[in-house]
Amino acid sequence: MRDAVGFLRAEYDELVRADLDWKLRVLAGPSAPWCDIDGKRVLMFCSNNYLGLSNHPKVKAAAVAAVQSHGAGSGSVRPIAGTMDLHVELERRLARFKQAEASLVYQTGFATNAGLIPQLAGDGDLIVSDELNHGSIIDGVRLSKADKAVYKHGDAADLARVLDQAEAHAPAYRRLLVITDGVFSMDGDIAPLDKIAKLGRDHGAMVYVDDAHGEGVLGDGGRGIVSHFGLSRDEVQVEMGTFSKAFGVVGGHISGSRDLVNFAYNKSRTWLLSGSHPPAVAAACLAAVDVLEHEPEHVERLWSHTRRFKKAMAALGFDLGRSETPITPVIVGESRSAKALSQRLYELGVFALPIVFPMVAKDKARIRTIMNAALSEDDVQFAIAAFEKAGRELKLI
Ligand SMILES: *Cc1c(COP(=O)(O)O)cnc(C)c1O
Repeated sequence: MRDAVGFLRAEYDELVRADLDWKLRVLAGPSAPWCDIDGKRVLMFCSNNYLGLSNHPKVKAAAVAAVQSHGAGSGSVRPIAGTMDLHVELERRLARFKQAEASLVYQTGFATNAGLIPQLAGDGDLIVSDELNHGSIIDGVRLSKADKAVYKHGDAADLARVLDQAEAHAPAYRRLLVITDGVFSMDGDIAPLDKIAKLGRDHGAMVYVDDAHGEGVLGDGGRGIVSHFGLSRDEVQVEMGTFSKAFGVVGGHISGSRDLVNFAYNKSRTWLLSGSHPPAVAAACLAAVDVLEHEPEHVERLWSHTRRFKKAMAALGFDLGRSETPITPVIVGESRSAKALSQRLYELGVFALPIVFPMVAKDKARIRTIMNAALSEDDVQFAIAAFEKAGRELKLI
């Protein structure tokens, strides 16, 4: 007889044996600079809550007020009966913030990429993707019937080569779509979006940037990578992002032309067939956009902390890879070393997780740190001191 479910335990056991299973750490309380993780008070040094907005009083108050005024749930998908005034207002305010003609909000960033990418390119088209793009882009691309090509990470010359080859394809491709992360989440490096945009223009390709780790971080007042490079909406036609990182809440979004938004919401199956944000989520996102517009100091603090941390860590002799952003990997080599460092940091009161093979190359295991504007300067100093102590004990520096 066939064993229908035996693989469940077998595959899980395999992961546990290889020490590749996820061991979940539990936060008791908010994602604040000092938090309680598995019963120990530690400095949070790896959340995506770059600006501390998940715990900002205005953002929390907006969520509570929306429950009172609009209830706990939206009651439907957006196209049927689940579009509330809060959703519409959020899209209007986001478009203003992004200086785009229009914006559209999805349930999550993952749902945005998985729902929109397969609609933008299909049979007879080509999607060209950076080799280190996020998994949600990879899944979006897989759902498309288009041909697929990958270019070397961050390498505009290699992208040019791929696009030149595409020009020679017979029959001629109908559409070309180039997709890249804005900031790459494992290394903290920035995509050469200016060069990518130029190649897009030269080849008549649509350019799609996933700015999940760039918004709230890069550009004028945290407006993101399109602002960072001073590009126009004619050059980068789809700017995608998420409310789950610097905005501190949850939700995906795109910004671009009115044509893009009209197309996207009529076509994306994730948007059409999955319930819309509860009122508290929409209101909290709206408040987060408002905070970014009115309180630029959070972005400034994020960068001053980032500069201080990188400078001190480099001076201590740590390898920080190619990071240019508040994502700072501390590369230590072997998986074992990264796990030992993370464990020692936790004992010393700093929470930052190891990233090991297969997520990164075998000899590039690291602790991935993410800076946070809500930390004090003393907190940053505390983290540096912990890295120094643990690094010396483990003979990493
Ligand atoms: C986190 C992330 C996403 C997914 O966003 P969610 O809103 O959390 O689903 C998509 N793309 C990139 C590059 C990300 O880092």
